[in-house]
Amino acid sequence: IRILGIEGTAWAASAALFDAETDDVVIETDAYQPESGGIHPREASEHMHDAIPDVVGRILEHARETHDGPVSEPPVDAVAFSRGPGLGPCLRVVGTAARALSQVLEVPLVGVNHMVAHLEIGRHTSGFDSPVCLNASGANAHLLAYRNGRYRVLGETMDTGVGNSIDKFTRHVGWSHPGGPKVEQAAKDGEYVDLPYVVKGMDFSFSGIMSAAKQRYDEGVPVEDVCYSLQENIFSMLTEVSERALSLTGSDELVLGGGVGHNARLREMLAEMCAQRGAEFHAPEPRFLGDNAGMIAVLGAKMYAAGDTLALEESHVDPNFRPDQVPVTWRGRSER
Ligand code: ATP
Repeated sequence: IRILGIEGTAWAASAALFDAETDDVVIETDAYQPESGGIHPREASEHMHDAIPDVVGRILEHARETHDGPVSEPPVDAVAFSRGPGLGPCLRVVGTAARALSQVLEVPLVGVNHMVAHLEIGRHTSGFDSPVCLNASGANAHLLAYRNGRYRVLGETMDTGVGNSIDKFTRHVGWSHPGGPKVEQAAKDGEYVDLPYVVKGMDFSFSGIMSAAKQRYDEGVPVEDVCYSLQENIFSMLTEVSERALSLTGSDELVLGGGVGHNARLREMLAEMCAQRGAEFHAPEPRFLGDNAGMIAVLGAKMYAAGDTLALEESHVDPNFRPDQVPVTWRGRSER
């Protein structure tokens, strides 16, 4: 099976080719970089409009070059695209591109939930059977685990996503988007100052800690100290809830997904917690962490193999598409 994947929920205009036989994933991404402030939905959708044809064109060319069937056959078996969650104007551009491609190539369309893709790429690259997944991305923060045909949301942020919270703080101090890598760098020279820590069962909240961090900065606390403390508190919160989810489900496998997963301190805390309880921890390689079409193509291949394709007239996008709305069609019967 060979799948062309397209991703475009927010900032990454991305296309990929996944070949299930060789397990090769080739990804082309063109990132939107705001001139100032954070991600602006209209600008981001204009970026999709400009960049998607290029990245898709390059992947399609690669698919044609590596296709060993007759030239009259399509070079891929299906087109998979991110249906949501994400910014509506961006999703609509990507949905239109995917529909057009599936019509021109005369191959089926597969509609992929972006959050489930962040999870499944970790399951795919780890080979874990039934892991708990911590999705630590820009606009989201979820703990997911599979039960009875769905990925259940065991815990999630009660307000902003984890990356977006960090980015709000860095906007306040005047650093360019995205802020996560800059906070990671600055935190290396910091010392701990007190900040709120908010976990309620397996849910958590970032808004109070962000207001307090901005306040500490305005009071003159060195920015390195605020960055260090932010990381320590936010990542401890995520580690605490991940441990609770492992304990609740009885799973001994944890995978990490999402762009904040690039952060070495977060990975260190999760790995240490897993080691202490005899669980295995896996973070996919960096190119699969932030938004990327590779994860869309990989999950698209599993869905396609299960016959989970979309009719054109049902292929609308959904900015609020939750992971637990997705019937999991691609896992073997024994796993259900
Ligand atoms: P979603 O996937 O929820 O729709 P998104 O598209 O914004 O959201 P990703 O591409 O998964 O999310 O992640 C982007 C986020 O990752 C940004 O908020 C960015 O600041 C954060 N990030 C990237 N690198 C790091 C890092 N080293 N440390 C912390 N955060 C990071």
